Amino acid sequence: MPRRVDRNACLSCGGCAGVCPSLAIRLEYGYRLVVDPERCTDCGLCTVFCPAGAIREA
Ligand code: SF4
Ligand code: SF4
Repeated sequence: MPRRVDRNACLSCGGCAGVCPSLAIRLEYGYRLVVDPERCTDCGLCTVFCPAGAIREA
């Protein structure tokens, strides 16, 4: 399952996009986080990295 983002908690820092080895995360319009379910391998790195605890298992 791809990761789920809590947009209310997300700080739009972009860090998770930087650590994702599958390039599955992007920030639309510079703030709206989108996880591409076709690319996400559910490795969990983004969840470990996120300083806000905003990205979790679906
Ligand atoms: S690392 Fe966390 S706070 Fe930063 S953009 Fe990703 S989900 Fe949002
Ligand atoms: S779980 Fe892994 S592959 Fe999926 S979005 Fe997070 S860092 Fe990228």
